Amino acid sequence: MLDWLIIGGGLHGTTIHGALTRVDSGFTIRVVDPFDTPCYSWFKRTDACAMRMMRSPAAHTALEDFTGLMRFARNEGYDLGQHTTPPYARPSTELFNRYLQTATTSHRLASDWLRGWAIDLRREDDAWTVSLDEGKTVRSRAVVLCVGRGHSHAADDQGLERPSWARTPSIVHVFDPGFDRARLERSRRPVIIGGGTTALHLALHLGNASRPCTVVTRHPLRCAQFDSDPCYIGPKCMRGFIETTDPEERRRMIDAARNPGTVPPDLLAHVRDAERETAIRVTVDTVERVEGAREGDSASLSLVGRDTTFDADQVCVATGFADSVPAATLLARAAASVHPDRCARYDSRGIPVPGKTLEWLPGLYLSGILAEQELGPSAPNIIGAQNAAKRLTSAICGRVRPIPSAWRRYASIR
Ligand SMILES: Cc1cc2nc3c(=O)[nH]c(=O)nc-3n(C[C@H](O)[C@H](O)[C@H](O)COP(=O)(O)OP(=O)(O)OC[C@H]3O[C@@H](n4cnc5c(N)ncnc54)[C@H](O)[C@@H]3O)c2cc1C
Repeated sequence: MLDWLIIGGGLHGTTIHGALTRVDSGFTIRVVDPFDTPCYSWFKRTDACAMRMMRSPAAHTALEDFTGLMRFARNEGYDLGQHTTPPYARPSTELFNRYLQTATTSHRLASDWLRGWAIDLRREDDAWTVSLDEGKTVRSRAVVLCVGRGHSHAADDQGLERPSWARTPSIVHVFDPGFDRARLERSRRPVIIGGGTTALHLALHLGNASRPCTVVTRHPLRCAQFDSDPCYIGPKCMRGFIETTDPEERRRMIDAARNPGTVPPDLLAHVRDAERETAIRVTVDTVERVEGAREGDSASLSLVGRDTTFDADQVCVATGFADSVPAATLLARAAASVHPDRCARYDSRGIPVPGKTLEWLPGLYLSGILAEQELGPSAPNIIGAQNAAKRLTSAICGRVRPIPSAWRRYASIR
């Protein structure tokens, strides 16, 4: 019997694993994940869209040491003029990923790693029984769900947002497990669908004056420094959020604070420069259907929009994640296995409503977007992993700290 089983070994799962081992090195823990190495999806996705700079500050990493990344950069001789950008010294993805690789390379994490998919979760005799694919079962006193977004055991449903006309093998999603960026790099007329950071990083990578990349977005490009209001990272807004007890009122606060489909000002400036250099063409239109098909490595496609038709030999949708609840089946099975008196709470969007310690059912804890009803709008982000880890470890230490306060102490990174 384990003390803790963490389902999902991404940025959230590995952050929480590190925090639990630092609180008590005697805990028996396993991290179950379908990939061989920690944060595989993060590395894969940032590489897929050729993301150059992080959107979050250098202080937001998978370790509680908020100054560690900058120390690492200096020790490793990184040119900080090239590898950070204001405000808050946002690091280059190259620097962040090298630091993340170092931070998640530990004997303890390697020996606690368990490869597999959790397909069932049941409360039995005051502990959790977790069934993995390929027939294995694991018993644990406590489970933390860190499943991220856009993953599914079923090959036909990866939880990715994909327009209905794009559900054809001729068209790839940038977060498809089999996405091959090299194919787009060989393309002569690439078209990217989407107007957020992923789409624009990819377009900047692909486009040049002799091979412009077309970006088709449903809305004019929208600018915001962060993907949610940073006020909710600290006590200023989190105090009011925590004092609000109605899940629907919290839901309204979360939705109002989020900035989906926006890009930070520096990325927007790069795109405008690239437009002037005719490396990128941004068109506001809504594609309604696609004509043509793929032949081998190439294709001759026409995307028929409301106003324009776009010819392409490669089309990639970069429209993010579906609005569905991650791991909904696991949540439903877990809820069905507990005593009916301990009824599982959800908000109107089907997101669980956990308690202050992030415990949703006895011994079942949440992180990421599944914990947004407690952690607020930044729950899915890197800082959300830190805040989830703090809630859990402060609860283990006997005093839950729902209002994050330490961030101010770490704010200065120079
Ligand atoms: C391109 C991109 C750029 C981003 N940039 C930033 C940024 O600059 N700053 C920021 O704060 N945030 C950013 N984010 C948002 C967020 O921080 C990342 O998505 C982050 O990777 C989320 O970590 P996670 O652990 O929740 O999820 P993931 O990284 O998706 O990891 C979840 C893991 O759980 C596994 N899993 C899922 N279900 C199961 C199951 N049933 N059994 C076993 N394993 C399972 C998955 O296979 C996966 O390995 C970005 C996201 C993307 C996609």
